[in-house]
Amino acid sequence: LENQFLRAQRLESIGTLAGGIAHDLNNILTPILTAAQLLQLKLPNTDERTQQMMRTIEANAKRGAALVKQVLQFARGVEGKRMIVQVGHLFSEIKQIVEETFPKSIELFTDIKPELWAVIGDATHLHQVLMNLVVNARDAMPNGGTLSIYAENIYIDEHYARMNLDASVGPHIQITIADTGVGMPPEIVDRIFEPFFTTKEVGKGTGLGLSTVRGIIKSHGGFVNVHSKVGKGTEFKIFLPAVEATATLFREDLEIFKGNGE
Ligand code: ADP
Repeated sequence: LENQFLRAQRLESIGTLAGGIAHDLNNILTPILTAAQLLQLKLPNTDERTQQMMRTIEANAKRGAALVKQVLQFARGVEGKRMIVQVGHLFSEIKQIVEETFPKSIELFTDIKPELWAVIGDATHLHQVLMNLVVNARDAMPNGGTLSIYAENIYIDEHYARMNLDASVGPHIQITIADTGVGMPPEIVDRIFEPFFTTKEVGKGTGLGLSTVRGIIKSHGGFVNVHSKVGKGTEFKIFLPAVEATATLFREDLEIFKGNGE
């Protein structure tokens, strides 16, 4: 399990990293390409050698852009499958890992409501989201504490969606992962989703965990909220667009994820 998790995390990190670089490179190439094209329009009568140089800049900026597009496609490819994910099964897996591998000084409390709606997406990636969050919670409680995991169905209405720009109206699963650990001051909270932002020792953290979490949740059309208080603890809330059980009956095009025993 640990190996599988590490490999999935590494793959996801490479995807995030490559995607991040490609995205930045695209922002660099676009003005080069635009400038090269504008120069050719502005200087139609310049000497042949200068025109040739402008064409070279344009052609190579275009090649770069094509390469960037490929890398972005690769990074998105890492984003995964579309299955009907019965999230209750994900929590069973996480619970088992926490119980078997976390220090005994960390008490696990769960309240996973029965008959949770399903999420259409990638079970492996959602598993990774939960793992990243519980591992962070563990690391925030070096002297022990309580790790709480809650999941329930909620309906996001128009009023809520107006207040939270990332939210979409409709049925969602709300997942809360809370710890009683060290907590974070606001200036740290502001930065935690940045790729490579970490406060952990070298070799202990990559700083890609939460940027991966956010990327995966976004790719599922959801969003993440954080509340933290120094010395008290941290609470991550994830909202994932969901489908009611009856709606999945009509999705014969999608496979169903039922956890390890599928
Ligand atoms: P990493 O875990 O590799 O450092 P993350 O992106 O997962 O990368 O987290 C970034 C930083 O956010 C962590 O280094 C830590 O400072 C902070 N952080 C994340 N989760 C928690 C938490 N539950 N409690 C306190 N700090 C946290």
